[in-house]
Amino acid sequence: MKCPRCKTENQSRSVCSNCGQFLYSAAYRNGKRLTEKEVRARDRRTVLGFFKKIGKGVWLVMAIIVMSFWLFILMYMLLN
Ligand SMILES: [Zn+2]
Repeated sequence: MKCPRCKTENQSRSVCSNCGQFLYSAAYRNGKRLTEKEVRARDRRTVLGFFKKIGKGVWLVMAIIVMSFWLFILMYMLLN
């Protein structure tokens, strides 16, 4: 992000490499939106949590299907 004081481009730093201006707190105080990196990290967490939840459900259903399939085979073999 660009330093608000000296306009130096800083790569994901909280303090400007040129003049020492606090970049994060300045942006926070001004009520600016989150930096691109922060937004991406937050989105990744949300998406990961979503897929983890879905994955758990799918895994459970798959396990039940496989278990009942094997039970069916077992019963079929025992009864014949
Ligand atoms: Zn600066």
